Amino acid sequence: MARWIRHFSDADPSDRALLGNKGANLAGMTQLGLPVPPGFIVTTAACRYVQQTGTIPPDLWTEVDEAITAIEARMARRLGDTDNPLLLSVRSGAAESMPGMMDTILNVGITPATRAGLGRQLGDRFAADAWRRLIQMYGKVVLGAPAEWFENALSGALLATGLPSEHEFDTASLLHLAERFESLLAEHDLIIPADPREQVRQSILAVFKSWNSERAIAFRATHGLPEQSGTAATIQAMVFGNRNEQSGTGVVFTRHPGTGDPGLFGEFLINAQGEDVVAGTRTPFPISNLQDMPAWQTLPVQLQAIGDQLELHYADMQDIEFTVEDGRLWILQTRNGKRSAAAAVRIAVDLTHAGVIDRAEAVRRIQPEKIESLLHPGLDDGRPVNVIGNGLPASPGAARGVIAIDTADARKRAAEGTRVILVRAETAAEDYPAMAVSEGILTARGGMTSHAAVVARGIGKPAVTACSDLTINTRNQTITIGTVTLAVGDELAIDGGSGRVITGPVTLAPAELDAYARTILDWADEFRHLAVRANADSPEDARGARALGAEGIGLCRTEHMFFGDGRLSTIQTLILAETDDERDQALARLEQFQTDDFIGIFRAMDGFPVTIRTLDPPLHEFLPHRPANIAALAKRLNVDTETLRDRIEAHRESNPMLGLRGVRLSIVHPGIATMQARSIARAAIACIHEGIDVRPEIMVPLVSVTEELSRQREVIEKAVASIVDKSGVSITIRIGTMLELPRACLRAGRLAEYADFFSFGTNDLTQTTFGMSRDDSARYLPTYLSEGIYRTDPFQTLDQQGVGELIQMAIERARAVRPEISMGVCGEHGGDPESISFCHGIGLDYVSCSPFRVPVARLAAAHASLANPIEQPLLTAAD
Ligand code: PEP
Ligand code: MG
Repeated sequence: MARWIRHFSDADPSDRALLGNKGANLAGMTQLGLPVPPGFIVTTAACRYVQQTGTIPPDLWTEVDEAITAIEARMARRLGDTDNPLLLSVRSGAAESMPGMMDTILNVGITPATRAGLGRQLGDRFAADAWRRLIQMYGKVVLGAPAEWFENALSGALLATGLPSEHEFDTASLLHLAERFESLLAEHDLIIPADPREQVRQSILAVFKSWNSERAIAFRATHGLPEQSGTAATIQAMVFGNRNEQSGTGVVFTRHPGTGDPGLFGEFLINAQGEDVVAGTRTPFPISNLQDMPAWQTLPVQLQAIGDQLELHYADMQDIEFTVEDGRLWILQTRNGKRSAAAAVRIAVDLTHAGVIDRAEAVRRIQPEKIESLLHPGLDDGRPVNVIGNGLPASPGAARGVIAIDTADARKRAAEGTRVILVRAETAAEDYPAMAVSEGILTARGGMTSHAAVVARGIGKPAVTACSDLTINTRNQTITIGTVTLAVGDELAIDGGSGRVITGPVTLAPAELDAYARTILDWADEFRHLAVRANADSPEDARGARALGAEGIGLCRTEHMFFGDGRLSTIQTLILAETDDERDQALARLEQFQTDDFIGIFRAMDGFPVTIRTLDPPLHEFLPHRPANIAALAKRLNVDTETLRDRIEAHRESNPMLGLRGVRLSIVHPGIATMQARSIARAAIACIHEGIDVRPEIMVPLVSVTEELSRQREVIEKAVASIVDKSGVSITIRIGTMLELPRACLRAGRLAEYADFFSFGTNDLTQTTFGMSRDDSARYLPTYLSEGIYRTDPFQTLDQQGVGELIQMAIERARAVRPEISMGVCGEHGGDPESISFCHGIGLDYVSCSPFRVPVARLAAAHASLANPIEQPLLTAAD
């Protein structure tokens, strides 16, 4: 058996690591009996050998020669034959699909000696065009000639002929262009080998080399793909979609990649090669149009049958490239189709209903982060907008930002925090980094399967393509759409759901989860062990969180309630009060505000726990700093400005994050915690009278010693009793604490004696474990990340070794004392999939995150359970 190559007909299609995704699929399709042009694969092992040793594997070229001979026999054509030459394609293909990131060479095998024969077989114009394409691709990819040489030569030829595109060139013009290309190469001693087998060999090596192209490396870095695995090279007989009017080429998805709707979805170009579709140089027409074209009517039927077969075989939606040569259909490639998040969800649900996959697999297929993009804003349809152009709705969602037409400019603006809409004639692989940082993408050309469309759907960015009224003027740095001209830096909006391009004010409305997303999330709930709560501070947020599936509130930051109308001035009065009377009046007013807020929140969370944290931030945060505001407050309090300024100054701390905040505040000013506990009790009683199942929990922040918690517990219990005792209602209000200081984790066993629950405040716990300010880390974090000192931002993804170990230690110590104690995380990490997986692994009961992260957390918790099932009863909402 050959060592470095595998034939399509006998390779093991399950060995993707060796064959690459493309090669494995071609082998799989060949073995399914589909019409695949014959070919073979030079394996990734050969690529690794070349890259590691810088030499060619022994016997590789002999094996390649023998395999070519086998193709020659199947196609009844010979490589280098002057009468009936065989042409080959040499394509890249790694184990993980990296669309458009590596190189491919087509038409390998044309030489001055075979050109005439090719012309006799397929027409002179065709031969001249194929030759010109080979020189261009081989020159660029194998010989490393800059693309501009060819582009400039082509522009010259277009000018000279006055024709709009090279597709209109006659044979003479094409040959002339090819000669120009050849002489450009020759000027730099770059020669296309006259021996077709040498062409094949050099093409294989160039494909291997493209594994290390800048864009391929960037793509792998963004997608977390391994660096070492290498690419395979697939060598296959060429079939020609640009042979005549009975030929063509297309791409078909077995389901709609934007919406997931069932039914074939694709595009077709008559008399064209595959790269014409992908590069977006000609805008193809929808496959559905074929039904109205008598010569093509059977094609959709054939494609449907093949699509069904492939979808069933691979148990997923397929993206199939095909070519028709002189009426004969050839399948060139199939792969699991890239899709928008919405389509991924719908397809997973539909395939489950069809019995192709099960619920666990459906849940596994949705990346947690992706589901959040379903909550990306759409256009608020209630409001009129100024539509200046239309294109194809290539990737759903609406976006607005400033226009950038240059990728470097787009990246620069995005790095500065500006929202950018990237506007291009069309996009190519090297535009990927700019697309990834833009809000949305608008192109003048390219269909629903163009690079721009495929990439945008993959990364969840809204896109409108083929906006034919769009022209880009790089010299003036403007774009024109119809009659409207806009400058780079001007605002623009796109609606990738409808294809509209819009100027002027637009309102983006949050999208709701549709029935498919709700189904997937319901299925996720069947598997997960972690409960998911939300961090919410208002009745409105609580309702939103409930709608997204939050099973309670894990953190209600009460300080956020003090910034509303009339409240800020009341708390300012409280802080600055000079007499008990003033203080009591302010507290009474606040108690009323708080009671009303809590009633709203308890109503939204009927039947679910609501964890309310007593006041946490330093009081200085509530006081004015600007002279005008200080003067206004002085007037209201009837004191002179100087005096007030001194009193405000007295609250200033050099390090407020480590200062008079959290439980320390309540120890020094017990009135605030008392007022809050009374409000919670009053609100709970009012709700019980309404028949609501209230489950309040009061949480004390920033505790480090047991005495703080035991005293605070007493204050809270007393305040609650002062309300409950005279109400005649029986109610349980659980009291717990946040663990957000290392000392609290170390002393968790003692703290557990006074806590019904623990909530790990991983924001502060990270801050204090690293000794790194949450508010100032942006100055050095980017350097730490780019230098690889931190793998990830510890404020986003939990530091498992350090902070994580403190949490694990605390869990063990607490459970040893109080086995039934419930514990969760309420820092930002509660919405981060990697951190959620850790929380699951260490046996926490719940995570709590911002409302929009709730669907992400539900899925991430299910993924964690599916990857690492643990034997414990599923939590109920009441945990
Ligand atoms: C925390 O510290 O993790 C936390 C949730 O509290 P805050 O972010 O309000 O300090
Ligand atoms: Mg905190």
